[in-house]
Amino acid sequence: MVVMKFGGTSVADRAAIERLIGIVRAERQAAIQPESRDWRGPIVVVSALGGATDRFLGVAAEAGAGDVEGAKENTRALRARHIEVAGVITDTAERAAVEAHLHREFDELERIAGALGVLREVSPRWLDAIAAVGELASSRIVAAALSSHGLAASWVDARRVMVTDREHTAALPQFPETRAALAAQVDPLLAARRVPVIGGFVGASRDGITTTLGRGGSDYSAAIVGACLGASEIQIWTDVDGMLTADPRVISGVQVVPHLSFAEASELAYFGAKVLHPATIQPAVSENIPVKILNSRRPFDAPGTLITRDRPPTRKPLTAVASKTGVTVVDITSTRMLMAHGFLQRIFDVFERFKTSVDVVTTSEVSVSVTIDDRRHLPEIISTLEEVAEVTREDDMAIICAVGEGLQNDPTFVSELLHAIGDVPIRMVSQAAARRNITFVIRAGDLPTTLTRVHERFFTHAGFPAEDARPVERSL
Ligand code: ADP
Ligand code: ASP
Ligand code: MG
Repeated sequence: MVVMKFGGTSVADRAAIERLIGIVRAERQAAIQPESRDWRGPIVVVSALGGATDRFLGVAAEAGAGDVEGAKENTRALRARHIEVAGVITDTAERAAVEAHLHREFDELERIAGALGVLREVSPRWLDAIAAVGELASSRIVAAALSSHGLAASWVDARRVMVTDREHTAALPQFPETRAALAAQVDPLLAARRVPVIGGFVGASRDGITTTLGRGGSDYSAAIVGACLGASEIQIWTDVDGMLTADPRVISGVQVVPHLSFAEASELAYFGAKVLHPATIQPAVSENIPVKILNSRRPFDAPGTLITRDRPPTRKPLTAVASKTGVTVVDITSTRMLMAHGFLQRIFDVFERFKTSVDVVTTSEVSVSVTIDDRRHLPEIISTLEEVAEVTREDDMAIICAVGEGLQNDPTFVSELLHAIGDVPIRMVSQAAARRNITFVIRAGDLPTTLTRVHERFFTHAGFPAEDARPVERSL
């Protein structure tokens, strides 16, 4: 059975949902082997309509600032957009039923926004309740649209199958409960040859309070569903041809990577390749399920990227380069002459206490530098660290992470990389033990130049035959 996840741009409007229907129909036709025990499903997981989550969170922000009128205006626009998109449901009765649901959800949202506007405070719990409307609404529309186009589909309420802890806005799935809930809700639909449609990103705690898995979390939902139900493949349908050699929003001339290992994909996602949520690969690894990244605008002529446990050997040292901005470097210098025993542990305990993850770490005898991108607790972190150390911070930094299984066999790679980077000042460098990646930290303003230089050196002018890279056709 296959899990097909469609991201925001793949459900952005009526035309996008019509393309989705064509893609699901093709998958279903491939699946129709009535006597086969490996029923390919599929199960469909969808994001909110493209850009809608930002807008829902905008409603919450306006309500929190006491701008009730602004919040209501945004809610009205969201309601109108969803009703318009629901026009893709051709069956009149089905459409009327979905419209009635949408009106109830948006009436409720308006009431919540009004109440929060009076309180002028939006807790993470309310942020989740508001953001979740996006996926709950889009999944209802898509389920009815599929049914009305002759593909018997059933809406599955994500709050009844994705069981999470209560860490609002970044909830963690509880696998045993989620597995049991999915088996109870989804297996009977598959047995009846229906297509289950689930909103991604959304879950609920054991006591039924709505939660979300964090921004971009629909990919993670799809992987969790796939792992819990023993899928044979997880497909991530998006707006680019696959995993690209670098972020197309930062540089041009990028290429599609046809095949990645799980380890490479995890590193790339963690260090900024937005096309995959960083947690997506974990459930796939645990059940060894192949993941494919595919372009919903070119479903039948762009083969996409295949991600599996191992990948065919390649002559290229580098597979792809991920990057992210919005990074802060924190330099921590011990106030004692030498780093005392236990100093590192004390430092990391502080980050742990404030639930802030550290990405890159470098140390010298008296100092430690770390990068973080979640600055919510930085003032408290700094003042706690100042009890044992001198602390400085530098904002507006960027991380570049060069990833490739081939790095391990290329002794000259680091010197070539540094040569390519040239005169760009490097703030930190780190090579992981597995030697599958090299990460360095630079000023955010230097990112486009640096990425261009690295990409030109290792991809554009690498002189390798095009055995394992394809040029990209932009679909937008
Ligand atoms: P979706 O809404 O389908 O989940 P996202 O916007 O979350 O899509 O992710 C797709 C986007 O990720 C692409 O449009 C691209 O701009 C961005 N991206 C960043 N780095 C990469 C990369 N290395 N490969 C592919 N896409 C990338
Ligand atoms: N809609 C959510 C977001 O925009 C989740 C997702 O699209 O994956 O973050
Ligand atoms: Mg995404």
